[in-house]
Amino acid sequence: MADIIHLLPDSVANQIAAGEVVQRPASVVKELVENAIDAKATEITISIIDAGRTAIQITDNGIGMSETDARMAFERHATSKIKDAADIFTIRTMGFRGEALASIAAVSQTELKTRKKENELGTKIVIAGSKIESQEPESCPVGTTFTVKNLFFNTPARRKFLKANKTEFTYILAEIHQTALANPQISFTIIKDGELYAKYPIGTLKQRIISIFGKQMDKGLLSIEDESSIVKIHGFVGVPELARKATNNQFFFVNNRFFRQKSFLGSIMRAYGNLVQQKEYPPFFVFLEIDPGEIDVNIHPTKTEIKFSEEFNICQLLEATVKYTLGKSNIVPTLDFSDPEDYSDMFKSTTNVTVTAPPKIALNPSYNPFKSNNGPSYNNTPSNARNWEKLFEEYQTKKTTESEPLLDFGETTELSNIDLGQDIHIQSCTQVQKKYIVSVVDDKIYIIDIKRAHYRLIYNIFEETITGNQNIPSQKTLLPIRIEVMQHEAESLKEALPQLQALGIDIEEFGNQTFVINGTPSNIRPEMVQETIMDFATRINESGKNFKDNWQEYIVKTMAKSASLYRNPDMNKDEMQQFVSNLLQTKSYTITPDGQLVTVIVEINDLLKKFN
Ligand code: ADP
Ligand code: MG
Repeated sequence: MADIIHLLPDSVANQIAAGEVVQRPASVVKELVENAIDAKATEITISIIDAGRTAIQITDNGIGMSETDARMAFERHATSKIKDAADIFTIRTMGFRGEALASIAAVSQTELKTRKKENELGTKIVIAGSKIESQEPESCPVGTTFTVKNLFFNTPARRKFLKANKTEFTYILAEIHQTALANPQISFTIIKDGELYAKYPIGTLKQRIISIFGKQMDKGLLSIEDESSIVKIHGFVGVPELARKATNNQFFFVNNRFFRQKSFLGSIMRAYGNLVQQKEYPPFFVFLEIDPGEIDVNIHPTKTEIKFSEEFNICQLLEATVKYTLGKSNIVPTLDFSDPEDYSDMFKSTTNVTVTAPPKIALNPSYNPFKSNNGPSYNNTPSNARNWEKLFEEYQTKKTTESEPLLDFGETTELSNIDLGQDIHIQSCTQVQKKYIVSVVDDKIYIIDIKRAHYRLIYNIFEETITGNQNIPSQKTLLPIRIEVMQHEAESLKEALPQLQALGIDIEEFGNQTFVINGTPSNIRPEMVQETIMDFATRINESGKNFKDNWQEYIVKTMAKSASLYRNPDMNKDEMQQFVSNLLQTKSYTITPDGQLVTVIVEINDLLKKFN
């Protein structure tokens, strides 16, 4: 019987191996940019066509390659960066496995032009699917240009696996940002589909952060610095106000290489403690300098996860350093957004009575008012939300000064003409701990969390307006509010402008990456709207389709929630009655739009049974 084992041809082996190194266009950009940095470039130009599907071109002014090196560079395990295994543990350059170029050339049509300073003529190599098609002398500037065309042309399954251009481009940008932050001494130029997209000039780390993330970083960066025998720490952490719902502005570098590390992230978040809200992330740019022998960068093929032998100690040092920096800068919480205690349990445990389901009003918890195909509105919901809308309108017309931008619920007594509905007979209302109202209505006791009830009420007004195909009224801000976002965010934000305007956010584009808000819904603080939009901008690209379908709801929720935080919980009897009446007539009054308990309902009969 004939032998059946044979060696795979190099081109096939390279293609298989390429799967590890080259997962998407962003991986090509990462590898080529790292090579340019290793080649001591001070200027790198990255040109992307079609999110890298059609072409990726990286030009550097580094040391270039000789004719022989240019050809050798595409061989597997060809590297100028290590000579023996021991070198792996002391390596300080970006790449060293010598497989990036072999991998890229295996799955694309690649062209390399390169020249060394001492040579008059450079060399040009054309290679497709690992096969060298030509190599000839070429007159070109000192340095190197790689052009990678038709990525995955010979591995259609991979090509099909690529996501939408916008998403792939976001990945590419993320790679560039990581590298650009680690190398402010190098200028980066990004060209997208033939047009200048961004330029990050040579500067300090702080200047680099600002040129990538915008001017809002300027005043909010706190420098961190610490040196011990284990690790040297430097960089910046952002003030809590800069925290966003997305994590795309959190960066760790070790020996100038980007990495991810959950435990270090935990340390930083612990240092911030409750200075930031849950699921909000402050920006940070943390650089660690450490003996290369103490880390193993080789455990992950794309090299973003790194093992540290001193992980625990570094965690402690990080937390302490960031805490110290925040403390030194006198940063204290200005607003308590979080409700740490869960009040819903309080009632359950002390009274031990059955909590009944809300009577009269049927709820459909899966109803999404922001989807168009939901059919007609709730039949058994009184038109109370309309009244609230009227309430807002009356408030607006009554208002004479700008100095009191919030709706004061205390004014509701003047609006006693609001139809309270037939079924509700409020017998008593008492305020408890300035947080709750306990109200007896017919044969039930309602215990209402005031803040959450406000959230529910305001949300419902917004929701009604939108489902009624009306725009939420907008009120001019005293001063226009500028918002700067990143370039790719700007594009998405532009598309969303009409819908934002429908939500009462009068926002328009104001030149490159800048937007201006001229008006906000009358009962929402402008700075809250600003923050909401900034969060929205970072999330719109990141969060994929699911978020896109729901973002209008997200914005409405965020605005309603922030508005509710500023409601004064102090109410007199009449105000409380009005408030309870309004709440009980609105739909879903037992839970907030986020599903937290608003109202506990106790049947008086159940309670009385306790005395038997
Ligand atoms: P590695 O970076 O791991 O050494 P690569 O396959 O990325 O492996 O590159 C192979 C070699 O090609 C490098 O070691 C380097 O000598 C050379 N090379 C690659 N890109 C450049 C460049 N832009 N300028 C100069 N030399 C380069
Ligand atoms: Mg490399």
